[in-house]
Amino acid sequence: LEEAKPLPPSQQLEPPSSMPRPRPIKRRARMVILGTGWAAMNFVKDLDKELYDVTVVSPRNYFTFTPLLPSVCSGTLTPFSCIEPFRHFCRNPKTGKVDVTFYEAYAEDISFVQQRVTCKSAAQQVKARSKPKPSAHPLPFPSEYIPLEEYDTLFHIPYDYLVVAVGAQNNTYNIPGVEEYSYFLKEIEHARDIRKRIMNNFEKAYLPGVSYEEKERLLHFVVVGGGPTGVEAAAEFMDFIRDDMSKYFPEELMLMAKVTLIEMSPRLLPMFSGAVSKHTRKVFKKLGISVMSEYAVSEIKEKTMTVKNLRTPRPYDEDEAIGKDRPAQGETKEMPYGFVLWAAGVGQVELSQKVLQKLREQKGRSRMAVDGQLRLLGTENVYCLGDCAEIVPKSIAEAAPDLWKCMAPHHGFFLPWDDRHKIVTQKTQTFAMAVQWLISNQAQLAADFPQMSPTKYDFREAIERKWDKKQFDYQQLKNFLASIDENYRSPAPTAQNAAQQGTYLADTFTKFRTKASKFEAPVFIEKWKGTLAYVGDSQAVADLPPDLSALTYLMPGGTILKVENDVQPPPNPSNSNDTEKIEENKTENAVQDASAGEEEDDLRVMPSGAKKDDKFICILGGNFSSLFWRAVYLQEQMTWRNRIITTFDWLKSHYLGRDVGR
Ligand code: NAD
Repeated sequence: LEEAKPLPPSQQLEPPSSMPRPRPIKRRARMVILGTGWAAMNFVKDLDKELYDVTVVSPRNYFTFTPLLPSVCSGTLTPFSCIEPFRHFCRNPKTGKVDVTFYEAYAEDISFVQQRVTCKSAAQQVKARSKPKPSAHPLPFPSEYIPLEEYDTLFHIPYDYLVVAVGAQNNTYNIPGVEEYSYFLKEIEHARDIRKRIMNNFEKAYLPGVSYEEKERLLHFVVVGGGPTGVEAAAEFMDFIRDDMSKYFPEELMLMAKVTLIEMSPRLLPMFSGAVSKHTRKVFKKLGISVMSEYAVSEIKEKTMTVKNLRTPRPYDEDEAIGKDRPAQGETKEMPYGFVLWAAGVGQVELSQKVLQKLREQKGRSRMAVDGQLRLLGTENVYCLGDCAEIVPKSIAEAAPDLWKCMAPHHGFFLPWDDRHKIVTQKTQTFAMAVQWLISNQAQLAADFPQMSPTKYDFREAIERKWDKKQFDYQQLKNFLASIDENYRSPAPTAQNAAQQGTYLADTFTKFRTKASKFEAPVFIEKWKGTLAYVGDSQAVADLPPDLSALTYLMPGGTILKVENDVQPPPNPSNSNDTEKIEENKTENAVQDASAGEEEDDLRVMPSGAKKDDKFICILGGNFSSLFWRAVYLQEQMTWRNRIITTFDWLKSHYLGRDVGR
């Protein structure tokens, strides 16, 4: 317990002089958490609630398992398999007591001076459907019949510690019409709406008297954004159309139905390796999903959208949605559509934008900047986690004077980093010696500077620069350390990283109990556990770290590449050296994959977040890949309740088909 604050003077009673003075009442530090997403859930779950008085504020009283939302759009899963009521986590299962206070409300503003959060009820979002019944005995407390405006009041929650984990929202980039006409896929309601709209379009197109052009427009499903959300959604839409709608609607109508994916960059799934990206395109081609890469959507109207071509047309642009009519570079064309999903990346929510304006240290940033321990820059007791935060670690270049002291030889050996304050010498040394010292102290340094972690900086590259023959002076050391600073990338806004940050912070808050001691905690360094995506046709793709190589034995039928990190030509089965890289059962498809040489450079791309190690594993489809994908997601779910619902939903969809009612 810490920071026992005496009660305000007005509440203190002066004891009679004959009585012993009471000891000040100790209270637990008030901890306010904003959000019920990946970061907040993992934080609440792992935090020792006996140490803090915990209050959670979020506009939704459930956690959403976001990776499975595309499956809800297609009806493969029911919404209940993806949501976890938050109140389950407010109750201590051992004592049966509620040990977390939860308010379903929006955090409207934060006052860093008064240390309080201003909140507004989220109940106003619910529309009253029935008129209130007149009651003979009015209830003394707000009942469900009291008009919703009554809840529309602001209330304040004071905090000693604040954890902001409000996530991100879809980024519209202020493109005209996106907010008005497109659908997003971030919440369970979005998935429900998308499903309704897809069904609606099929039913409308089937009505007699609807023109051919209109039918074609209604059945054109467009997904904007070739990231994992867009790819998985496009794959699920196509599976649904192919496997289920085709059973109930005539062939003429099914021939008109199409799914188009529009992506600004040349590659699908940019955060995956080149091999995965290439394989995804291949599966999409087989499924009939048109991929319009290097096109940017510049405007969306009610029935058409404007797309801009970003590159010179090539003779083999055969995978386009509407004919083969790629306009000249920089030119636009109109495309009719019946439904559009906007999955073009994430931006900041209103609260984060307010914080960015409020604090001097945050001005001009796109995400809330936090230090290595996830503390919001410009504050001492506010932490930010997940998609709303960006780690800006303290600069190692600024620690150059201390490092230089430690590196200088002293009586024949180097000093460890912990003894940096003990000695000053001005001797110069070679670059190789400096790097050697940095490598041998890497673990200690990484506890203070995440940019020094072996997963973030690869010293092999530095050694290969062969500076070791030169004398190495202080300024060169500083420049070298500045290059390590520049090399650092904050963790990507993924569910995996948000969950790890939640667990890390809960651990910090449990082990380091006072405000001052929290500054001593080691910094956060994410661990890449691989990336997975469903690409349709019962196929999943994955990039996995090498320590999971045992899993490759569970993947008969798929292509498993052990990919070298350094620049290598793509594996070619006709080359005896390269055949070693293509392991396990090579299907016919796999051989075609590896030998297709037209996108050679693409295959060398590393998955983002991958360890700077020599190898990673890349799983490309195969009979068992979707089973693997399912097993991973089942294991990632928070409770057995959800695992059971999800398993039943998958079995139901597999054996009985998806639900085609709205
Ligand atoms: P994203 O940022 O990963 O991808 C958005 C894509 O949209 C980009 O490739 C961008 O080039 C494209 N784009 C942007 N504006 C465009 C425009 N005007 N026209 C056409 N294309 C445009 O977004 P996401 O897929 O929503 O993912 C968000 C985050 O969540 C990412 O970090 C992602 O890794 C993570 N995520 C991961 C998984 C998974 O691992 N399976 C699933 C979902 C999300």
